[in-house]
Amino acid sequence: MKTNFSETKKLFNLPEGIIYLDGNSLGPLPKTAAQKVTQMMESEWGEMLITGWNNAGWMHQPVSVGDRVARLIGAEPGHVVVGDTLSIKVYQALASALEMRPDRRVILSDSGNFPSDLYMAEGLIKSLNAGHELRVVAPEDIAENITDEVAVTLITEVDYRTGRRHDMGKLTAKAHAVGALTVWDLAHSAGAFEVDLMGCGADFAVGCTYKYLNGGPGSPGFIYVAPRHVEHTRPALSGWLGHAAPFAFEPSYAAGDGIERMRVGTPSVIAMASLEAALDIWDRVEMTDLRERSIELSTLFIETVEKNCPMLKLASPRDPAGRGSQVSFHFEHGYAVMQALISRGVIGDFRAPDIMRFGFTPLYLDDDDVLAGCEILTEVMQGKLWDRVEFKIKARVT
Ligand SMILES: *Cc1c(COP(=O)(O)O)cnc(C)c1O
Repeated sequence: MKTNFSETKKLFNLPEGIIYLDGNSLGPLPKTAAQKVTQMMESEWGEMLITGWNNAGWMHQPVSVGDRVARLIGAEPGHVVVGDTLSIKVYQALASALEMRPDRRVILSDSGNFPSDLYMAEGLIKSLNAGHELRVVAPEDIAENITDEVAVTLITEVDYRTGRRHDMGKLTAKAHAVGALTVWDLAHSAGAFEVDLMGCGADFAVGCTYKYLNGGPGSPGFIYVAPRHVEHTRPALSGWLGHAAPFAFEPSYAAGDGIERMRVGTPSVIAMASLEAALDIWDRVEMTDLRERSIELSTLFIETVEKNCPMLKLASPRDPAGRGSQVSFHFEHGYAVMQALISRGVIGDFRAPDIMRFGFTPLYLDDDDVLAGCEILTEVMQGKLWDRVEFKIKARVT
């Protein structure tokens, strides 16, 4: 193992007394982020004003930052662009893919997908008004449903509730064998383990940067288009910054070169600064090391919880190869348990109807954190400390 995880841990702002097991939903603050954002504001925005678009490289950032993300997901350099939100990127990828399969009408997804992906597909189908169908099957049935009716598969590699991981290589090969295209959502993959888009032959991929990548709340999404396709894709969201010559201000749209065509409008330069601070940390990380540590941490958690809290039922695959970097347990009063944990400084989250989720992120978690979290969970479960009214009131974000 080459990555020094006790060093990366020191690079995050981790509040005293908190065990943070929710980096799968929102990564913590890199210590240099505030300074990077301040520097961007004062030295770039403050001093350079509009010249920052050229002189500070703001206009190029969606592609230069995209390259830094590309390394983490096994993509070819120059084929990832950062911007907008993941939901927008899902729409773009899906729209372009559908257009490349004009004779087919089925978008195939599974019931483990995150609702926003399915909602975006529904919205696109309505706008196209061309008889497309969103076919949603159980995750375990996805392979057998990849038939020659399918234009594109829209699959999130790791299930946001259970952590169950699809086999990207196998499903992509199956899709290609029947002439379908693939859109892979890497929301819970990027920064969770090594992803090999190139090796799997993925067609399109999308993701976000505020979960495992630690870019900050609302940091931008990303999109990948395979080099063999990119010049044949027509961007559905044809904004001016995806134009071949944005500053020619031509009256009609012409798609830009390569992945640049997937840009839409003005990038969020302030958000990009905090994302760059996070990517500085990722530059020190080997993804194979990360995966090894992630499996050690999540396995330790499962073993300890099952020994001490038999009333919790594992919702995630037991085989580490079959899951991402989160572990979930079913419990009828999971929401109240999670609130009780949070009140004691152990932060995970809850997903309806009964799932407690815990994310394992080697960049800033070690065995001691996992064991300390387990100890508090054990106290809460064995003492039924969750059984209080104040822990049962649902907040807006769970
Ligand atoms: C987190 C997540 C989203 C969220 O999309 P945003 O547009 O960034 O809010 C979408 N899809 C999946 C699979 C997710 O896990």
